[in-house]
Amino acid sequence: MSKKVLSIGLDLDGVILYNPLRVARPLIASFKNIVAYKRRMKFYYPKTFWEKQIWKLIHYLSSLFVADGFRDIIKLTRNKKIRSYVVSARYSMLGVDFRRWIKKIKADSSLSGCYYNAGDKQPHLFKQKMIEKLNLDIYVEDNYDIVRYLSQSAKLKKVKIVWIYNILDRHIDYPYKFPTLKAAVEFIETTL
Ligand SMILES: [Mg+2]
Repeated sequence: MSKKVLSIGLDLDGVILYNPLRVARPLIASFKNIVAYKRRMKFYYPKTFWEKQIWKLIHYLSSLFVADGFRDIIKLTRNKKIRSYVVSARYSMLGVDFRRWIKKIKADSSLSGCYYNAGDKQPHLFKQKMIEKLNLDIYVEDNYDIVRYLSQSAKLKKVKIVWIYNILDRHIDYPYKFPTLKAAVEFIETTL
């Protein structure tokens, strides 16, 4: 009997794409803190023209390179070891840049599907919905707030949420945490 082919979802910014200097991380975090309610998850959504320009710039600065390990994802997908999807919570205003990246990294021709948050839903809810819809076994994410939300979601009990942490968050205890995509992919390969 053949084994079930695992379905893996990957975030784009901070997982497949990253900036080794991570210059935009503290900016994004402080932006988020300004508008975050104490308990309820609520992510910042840029409204004015200039807020949108700054938001685009932050994404541009934070996503300059393709992470080591992405080629392994392509290879595993081509060899039918896994099914793989890009699930990004990028808002509609970043749709053009999203499609540009997807083409550039050949995710459209090499992976099983690519999705972004064209309906401007709250990022954690969009991801939760897509993980359910695509019936994912594993989802790889870099934002710890989202990792915590998804890993505690009753709807996603059987899903492994894999966390790519940055140096500032390394003290946080979490069972599936990895410093790089490469390390996360090596872990995923052991579960196949
Ligand atoms: Mg991210």
